[in-house]
Amino acid sequence: MPDLRPLEDVTAELSAAEAAVADVEHALTRIDAGDYGTCEVCREPMPDAVLETVPASRTCARHGPELGPLR
Ligand SMILES: [Zn+2]
Repeated sequence: MPDLRPLEDVTAELSAAEAAVADVEHALTRIDAGDYGTCEVCREPMPDAVLETVPASRTCARHGPELGPLR
């Protein structure tokens, strides 16, 4: 008997995974552009702690309230 899960659960997981992939692809673009590791809002360098916890983070702790500082 296959383990059948609600479609909504699988869809939500897929959406989260796609968002994570998009974040990483965006980070790779920024590495190519030479501005990886800076906040996209204030352009200040992001703390190492942020980058270590969320390597694909786009903003510093002050400018990512919707994501949380350490998503
Ligand atoms: Zn910032």
